[in-house]
Amino acid sequence: MRKIFHAYILLGPEEETIKKAIELAKAANCSETPSFCDDCDCCRRMEAGSHPDLFHVLPDGSSIKVEKIRDVVMGSHQPPIEARRKVYVFHEADKMTHEAQNALLKTLEDPPTSLLFLLLARNLKALLPTVVSRCQILDYSKTDEGKDIPRDVKEILLEVILAGLDFSKINFYVQKFADAEVESDVLMEFMASVYRDILVIKTKSRAGLKNWDLSDKLKKRAQDLSPRALVRAIDTLYSQIEVVKAKGNETLAWYNLLVGLKEQEVM
Ligand SMILES: [Zn+2]
Repeated sequence: MRKIFHAYILLGPEEETIKKAIELAKAANCSETPSFCDDCDCCRRMEAGSHPDLFHVLPDGSSIKVEKIRDVVMGSHQPPIEARRKVYVFHEADKMTHEAQNALLKTLEDPPTSLLFLLLARNLKALLPTVVSRCQILDYSKTDEGKDIPRDVKEILLEVILAGLDFSKINFYVQKFADAEVESDVLMEFMASVYRDILVIKTKSRAGLKNWDLSDKLKKRAQDLSPRALVRAIDTLYSQIEVVKAKGNETLAWYNLLVGLKEQEVM
């Protein structure tokens, strides 16, 4: 298991993300292995939902209100009872009101080391840019992980993000990306990670950059883009990733994606 950060947004259908959230909670706390064993007392109780350091934050009706988040924030600064990391799972986190999200910000930016926040969401756009930029994003409907993007394709992807898309060449780009050896969702995921890094820089979040090797270029690009536009871009990417994963028409998905991002003036 890689290093576990302090806050994640788990994108995808709730039945999938809740499962992954519990796995992360176990991995952060398992007493037997660096991953999770599913056998120790801690893993078992996390799984059963009876661990005293595991909390579920649920919407009341159609929203999660600020009062609830204030209670969570207060509780989250108390040390765990027995676990290494106290875990809060926010169900339908995209239902947090803006006031509620703002109440969460300070803790997201400067969390106690013994804390793990897991925000389950379907709609990234409903979250404030400042919240998104302080969390790692995990897309848990993803199937193709860890494939390397060919260097020439990666360079072109970066070029359209950093230097802009020449609209007269859109068909060239669409074909190039749709025909790449790597699945389209992997390429789009990479693009989302670049926009997310720019957002991290833009909002001066202390969350780590995924593409740290590009940080100078990303800093430069951050000057021209607004946080709101960046979140919209990430959201647009994840909607097309869903299309591609559902075996939709890849060429069309790329076309819609590039047109969408161009219209949003982020490329
Ligand atoms: Zn265990």
